Amino acid sequence: MNINTNFLKLKDSYLFSTIARKIASYSKANPEKKIIRMGIGDVTLPLCKAVIDEMQAAVCEMGNKQTFRGYGPEQGYDFLAQKICEYYARLGTQIERDEVFISDGAKSDIGNILDLFSVDNTVLIPDPVYPVYVDTNIIAGHNIIYMDATAENEFLPMPDQNVKADLIYLCSPNNPTGAVYNRQQLKEWVDYALNTGAVILFDAAYEAFISDDSLPKSIFEIEGAKRCAIEFCSLSKTAGFTGTRCGYTVVPMALEKDGTKLNRLWLRRQTTKFNGVPYIVQRGAAAVFTQEGQSQIKQNINYYLGNAKIIADALQKKGIWFTGGHNSPYIWLKCPNNMGSWDYFDFLLENAQVAGTPGAGFGKNGEGYFRLSAFGDRDDTHEAVKRILSL
Ligand code: PLP
Repeated sequence: MNINTNFLKLKDSYLFSTIARKIASYSKANPEKKIIRMGIGDVTLPLCKAVIDEMQAAVCEMGNKQTFRGYGPEQGYDFLAQKICEYYARLGTQIERDEVFISDGAKSDIGNILDLFSVDNTVLIPDPVYPVYVDTNIIAGHNIIYMDATAENEFLPMPDQNVKADLIYLCSPNNPTGAVYNRQQLKEWVDYALNTGAVILFDAAYEAFISDDSLPKSIFEIEGAKRCAIEFCSLSKTAGFTGTRCGYTVVPMALEKDGTKLNRLWLRRQTTKFNGVPYIVQRGAAAVFTQEGQSQIKQNINYYLGNAKIIADALQKKGIWFTGGHNSPYIWLKCPNNMGSWDYFDFLLENAQVAGTPGAGFGKNGEGYFRLSAFGDRDDTHEAVKRILSL
């Protein structure tokens, strides 16, 4: 047998293990000091009541012979897909039921979608970036080229007519930078993809954090996008499903290559390799899209955005340059005094007992930057900024 040697080309991800090791060693040496973690992108608020009520009802159904459900449709139950179509309709975008695929989260789909594309594709990926895009393409053996996201382009790289790519990753609101594309910018990307025949893989995992109505939450709000884009969405940050696991991917029928619909390939891929998301979880997910669910998750999102504002105001007061924090749960700051990312990590840990994420962990352009997450507890966030302000 021969293994996929592309795995051997992956760089070891030291980011979160190094952070954990540094925190553990600091805690051991300073057991009396409370460390506030603002690094990891996990949520802290529980699932909302509407979701829990639906999941409890679904659990009871599973214990009753008349209402028990076995295997469900691989692409998700109609009751959930329909609600997602209605959600898109409220954004002014018409998505059909067959274009929606329910999954166990955006990470799986972002990796699995590469099954649709042959090995001879060139992939364009922003730097800094959510590391999953890079690693899944290394495993697939694709040629990767990078586009720079820097302070000069406000961390929103735009198409370069001299660059030819087959697959393009865009993430807005962005992890790690918190930057959000506006309509005009996304239109330029869509036009570029339509002209070159590229497919945009649009990661909308943080769309629910957009509160500015002028900003697009979905790439399908842009004219022409259905002919060139696939969109990945997640309930992880939207509704606290990081541990419950549910997301959805939209593959429009209009997206074709030489008469082959990518939607049909994805359906075939999912029905072959995936057996669907648990019924109980999909019932909970459907509750997210009800009026009651939307108002409850909005409260949680506003709580996190409130944290982001607390952090942003403190950085402003301190004269630290940052982006993100509006329409995004992440704040991307320039390390003060030209410190390196890891130096600033050590500095904050030792002097404020605050742990963030060094930007260098997200790519070469992340060096000199630092990510703070707004997903923490409110009191902890207040305490963390108090400590940062006192430095
Ligand atoms: N996309 C981005 C940009 C993310 O930051 C994350 C999670 O942190 C994901 C996708 C994965 O989301 P999920 O939990 O749905 O797999």
